[in-house]
Amino acid sequence: MVKPLELVRKNILALQPYSTARDEFKGGDINVWLDANESPYNNGVNRYPDPHQHSLKEKISRLKGVGVENIFVGGAGSDEAIDLTFRIFCEPGVDNAVSIAPSYGVYRVAAAINDIELREVMLTPDFMLPVSELLQAADAHTKLMWICSPNNPTGNAFALAEIETLADSFGGMVVVDEAYVDFSEKGSLLSVLHQHPNLIILQTFSKAWGMAGLRVGMAFASQEIAEIYARVKYPYNLNGPTQMEVMRRMEENISDKVAEIVSEAKSLAETLGRFPFVEKVYPTDANFLLVKVDNADALYDYLLSNGVIVRNRSRVAGCEECLRFTIGTPDENARVINLLNQYPI
Ligand SMILES: *Cc1c(COP(=O)(O)O)cnc(C)c1O
Repeated sequence: MVKPLELVRKNILALQPYSTARDEFKGGDINVWLDANESPYNNGVNRYPDPHQHSLKEKISRLKGVGVENIFVGGAGSDEAIDLTFRIFCEPGVDNAVSIAPSYGVYRVAAAINDIELREVMLTPDFMLPVSELLQAADAHTKLMWICSPNNPTGNAFALAEIETLADSFGGMVVVDEAYVDFSEKGSLLSVLHQHPNLIILQTFSKAWGMAGLRVGMAFASQEIAEIYARVKYPYNLNGPTQMEVMRRMEENISDKVAEIVSEAKSLAETLGRFPFVEKVYPTDANFLLVKVDNADALYDYLLSNGVIVRNRSRVAGCEECLRFTIGTPDENARVINLLNQYPI
């Protein structure tokens, strides 16, 4: 069994974290706050926010059914959790990480910023998980394995049991990016978090929750690893108005919107599949479709010149001639279909 703390960089384990004024305040009946050199004039944002985001974490804990002690909340979306994960576990210039490919581009950039070799292992041609190849790519210096499920840009989710097998067989941390999990019928690994001490699960408020503009992401891990994130993060990594706004918006019931996106994805996939210039619509568990066409650049330019932008993934290895369509409102999707009906082939 992996002992996650033994995988943490020595300097991080030894770290004496910065102690904020709000950390040293142990509670009590205070009504004069003179400990943090703030402005005393109340304008709504003159006080430092809660560096531990207690109220927000309690709300997330209830929503997700995980303990408050298992939660890290990041203020630059998932990007913060991705970067911190490299910084916590990987010694620059020494350690490496394994990732599936094609996948989310931020893993590669965060690895490069931290001077960590990222060993990318191609999915099978139909985008299945290459379990034994991933394990073979790892060596004694491999600290992390990045699995995005549902995967961006391919759209499919992997079987939970396969990811659990990876976690049980790999000697490092398995990071599962579940940014699109709210759209997937395959479900989340959160319910088995406690069975795999080397599992880290990333989720975000940017997609199904409709809060991309607020930049709030989450990591879920064992208590000992969640505590390491808390020590390494910037002390006030989530500003006060954002904490309040996320809590307010978490009251919304998003299930109707999610259901609409899922049903639009189904019908858009069917319709797209009928066009002669569409070679393949890949199955999706997310809010987007990866579509292989006969000339991706030409179709991309056609849509662009008609005011519709999709993501051209045709230069990504494994996604040749592919465009990625985010699912819009029913009206927006209908407009795309209309344009495709008029596409001069
Ligand atoms: C969109 C996305 C995220 C979310 O990023 P945020 O920084 O939280 O907005 C994370 N992972 C993947 C794979 C994504 O596609």
